[in-house]
Amino acid sequence: MSGSAALRSAMNETFHVVPTEDRLWHEEVADLCVCGPHVEFFPRGKVVVHHALDGRHGDDPAWARRRAHEVAREQALAEDLLL
Ligand SMILES: [Zn+2]
Repeated sequence: MSGSAALRSAMNETFHVVPTEDRLWHEEVADLCVCGPHVEFFPRGKVVVHHALDGRHGDDPAWARRRAHEVAREQALAEDLLL
């Protein structure tokens, strides 16, 4: 997704989805966590989905993207998607 002027001026929030009780501490300050998180961009912000190192989602490669969209809807980052 390109960074248009409209996107830059919009409210830009970042939400992190971190696996509970994982083996390590996930870095939530930057996008550069050791787990190599999946970053999904939406009109009003982005969702950073961290990968559990215990492999609990290993059999579901689409999980991170799906979860990102769930969070975006919950946080109203992507109101267009509600239509
Ligand atoms: Zn992480």
